[in-house]
Amino acid sequence: MRVYIDMDDVLCAFTAAHRKALEINSEIRYPQSVEGFFLMLEPLPGAIEVVNEFRSKFEVYILTAPSTRNPLCYTEKRLWIEKHFDYEFTNQLIISPNKGLMIGDYLIDDHIEGRGQEDFTGELIHFGSEDYPDWQCVRTYLAQKFTETV
Ligand SMILES: [Mg+2]
Repeated sequence: MRVYIDMDDVLCAFTAAHRKALEINSEIRYPQSVEGFFLMLEPLPGAIEVVNEFRSKFEVYILTAPSTRNPLCYTEKRLWIEKHFDYEFTNQLIISPNKGLMIGDYLIDDHIEGRGQEDFTGELIHFGSEDYPDWQCVRTYLAQKFTETV
Protein backbone atom coordinates (compact mmCIF):
# COMPACT_ATOMS: atom_id res chain seq x y z
CA MET A 1 0.00 0.00 0.00
CA ARG A 2 1.36 3.35 -1.03
CA VAL A 3 0.12 6.26 1.07
CA TYR A 4 0.65 9.97 0.47
CA ILE A 5 0.26 12.38 3.36
CA ASP A 6 -0.23 16.13 3.12
CA MET A 7 1.57 18.44 5.55
CA ASP A 8 -0.38 21.66 6.24
CA ASP A 9 -3.35 20.97 8.52
CA VAL A 10 -2.75 17.23 8.29
CA LEU A 11 0.69 16.75 9.86
CA CYS A 12 1.21 20.28 11.12
CA ALA A 13 -1.07 22.96 12.55
CA PHE A 14 -0.86 25.51 9.74
CA THR A 15 -4.19 27.32 10.26
CA ALA A 16 -3.76 27.69 14.02
CA ALA A 17 -0.28 29.19 13.57
CA HIS A 18 -1.51 31.44 10.77
CA ARG A 19 -4.36 32.77 12.91
CA LYS A 20 -2.09 33.31 15.90
CA ALA A 21 0.47 35.18 13.79
CA LEU A 22 -2.23 37.53 12.50
CA GLU A 23 -3.44 38.16 16.06
CA ILE A 24 0.07 39.04 17.17
CA ASN A 25 0.80 41.28 14.19
CA SER A 26 -2.03 42.02 11.77
CA GLU A 27 0.29 44.14 9.61
CA ILE A 28 1.96 41.01 8.28
CA ARG A 29 -0.69 39.96 5.77
CA TYR A 30 0.95 36.69 4.82
CA PRO A 31 2.56 35.09 7.88
CA GLN A 32 3.29 32.01 5.76
CA SER A 33 5.80 34.15 3.85
CA VAL A 34 7.83 34.92 6.97
CA GLU A 35 11.10 33.04 7.51
CA GLY A 36 10.72 30.28 10.06
CA PHE A 37 6.94 30.00 9.76
CA PHE A 38 6.90 26.49 8.30
CA LEU A 39 9.66 25.13 10.49
CA MET A 40 7.95 26.33 13.68
CA LEU A 41 4.58 24.67 12.99
CA GLU A 42 3.39 22.30 15.71
CA PRO A 43 2.50 18.71 14.84
CA LEU A 44 -1.21 17.85 15.06
CA PRO A 45 -2.22 15.47 17.86
CA GLY A 46 -1.34 11.87 17.06
CA ALA A 47 0.21 12.72 13.69
CA ILE A 48 3.78 11.69 14.46
CA GLU A 49 2.88 8.47 16.28
CA VAL A 50 0.40 7.26 13.68
CA VAL A 51 2.62 8.14 10.71
CA ASN A 52 5.56 6.33 12.31
CA GLU A 53 3.34 3.30 12.68
CA PHE A 54 2.28 3.59 9.02
CA ARG A 55 5.93 3.77 7.98
CA SER A 56 6.52 0.31 9.41
CA LYS A 57 3.68 -1.15 7.34
CA PHE A 58 3.13 0.96 4.21
CA GLU A 59 5.13 2.82 1.59
CA VAL A 60 4.64 6.32 2.94
CA TYR A 61 5.39 9.62 1.20
CA ILE A 62 4.81 13.12 2.41
CA LEU A 63 3.17 15.06 -0.40
CA THR A 64 2.91 18.80 0.05
CA ALA A 65 2.30 21.72 -2.27
CA PRO A 66 4.71 24.62 -1.91
CA SER A 67 3.93 28.15 -0.84
CA THR A 68 5.73 29.53 -3.90
CA ARG A 69 5.84 33.11 -2.61
CA ASN A 70 7.97 31.85 0.25
CA PRO A 71 10.96 30.05 -1.30
CA LEU A 72 12.18 29.16 2.21
CA CYS A 73 9.23 26.83 2.65
CA TYR A 74 10.95 24.21 0.49
CA THR A 75 13.84 24.03 2.94
CA GLU A 76 11.73 24.42 6.06
CA LYS A 77 9.42 21.57 5.10
CA ARG A 78 12.46 19.32 4.70
CA LEU A 79 13.84 20.47 8.07
CA TRP A 80 10.44 19.97 9.74
CA ILE A 81 10.43 16.31 8.69
CA GLU A 82 13.82 15.69 10.24
CA LYS A 83 12.90 17.64 13.39
CA HIS A 84 9.72 15.67 14.06
CA PHE A 85 10.55 12.31 12.47
CA ASP A 86 14.13 11.57 11.42
CA TYR A 87 16.61 12.10 8.61
CA GLU A 88 15.60 8.92 6.83
CA PHE A 89 12.05 10.15 6.31
CA THR A 90 13.26 13.26 4.45
CA ASN A 91 13.92 10.91 1.51
CA GLN A 92 10.15 10.44 1.27
CA LEU A 93 9.31 14.14 0.94
CA ILE A 94 7.66 15.20 -2.32
CA ILE A 95 6.97 18.90 -2.89
CA SER A 96 4.61 19.21 -5.83
CA PRO A 97 2.05 21.78 -6.96
CA ASN A 98 0.02 18.97 -8.57
CA LYS A 99 -0.81 16.02 -6.33
CA GLY A 100 -2.74 14.37 -9.15
CA LEU A 101 0.54 13.37 -10.80
CA MET A 102 1.31 10.83 -8.09
CA ILE A 103 0.30 7.20 -8.40
CA GLY A 104 -0.74 5.41 -5.26
CA ASP A 105 -3.46 3.88 -3.12
CA TYR A 106 -4.29 6.64 -0.66
CA LEU A 107 -3.90 10.38 -0.30
CA ILE A 108 -4.59 11.86 3.13
CA ASP A 109 -5.37 15.54 2.62
CA ASP A 110 -7.49 18.24 4.23
CA HIS A 111 -8.43 19.60 0.78
CA ILE A 112 -10.28 17.53 -1.80
CA GLU A 113 -9.35 19.81 -4.69
CA GLY A 114 -7.19 22.73 -5.76
CA ARG A 115 -3.77 21.09 -5.84
CA GLY A 116 -4.59 18.14 -8.06
CA GLN A 117 -6.31 16.14 -5.30
CA GLU A 118 -9.34 15.86 -7.59
CA ASP A 119 -7.19 14.00 -10.15
CA PHE A 120 -5.62 11.54 -7.71
CA THR A 121 -6.56 8.09 -8.96
CA GLY A 122 -6.34 6.36 -5.57
CA GLU A 123 -8.66 6.93 -2.64
CA LEU A 124 -8.73 10.35 -1.05
CA ILE A 125 -8.98 10.34 2.73
CA HIS A 126 -10.41 13.74 3.58
CA PHE A 127 -8.64 14.66 6.80
CA GLY A 128 -10.68 16.85 9.13
CA SER A 129 -13.97 15.73 7.59
CA GLU A 130 -16.78 14.05 9.50
CA ASP A 131 -15.47 10.59 8.54
CA TYR A 132 -11.83 11.33 9.35
CA PRO A 133 -11.74 14.10 11.94
CA ASP A 134 -8.38 13.08 13.45
CA TRP A 135 -5.42 10.73 13.22
CA GLN A 136 -6.97 7.99 15.30
CA CYS A 137 -9.80 7.66 12.78
CA VAL A 138 -7.36 7.53 9.87
CA ARG A 139 -5.30 4.95 11.77
CA THR A 140 -8.31 2.72 12.37
CA TYR A 141 -9.44 2.97 8.75
CA LEU A 142 -6.06 2.20 7.17
CA ALA A 143 -5.27 -0.55 9.66
CA GLN A 144 -8.50 -2.23 8.56
CA LYS A 145 -7.61 -1.77 4.87
CA PHE A 146 -4.17 -3.23 5.56
CA THR A 147 -5.69 -6.32 7.20
CA GLU A 148 -7.92 -6.80 4.15
CA THR A 149 -4.98 -6.73 1.73
CA VAL A 150 -2.62 -9.17 3.52
MG1 LIG B 1 -3.21 20.78 3.65
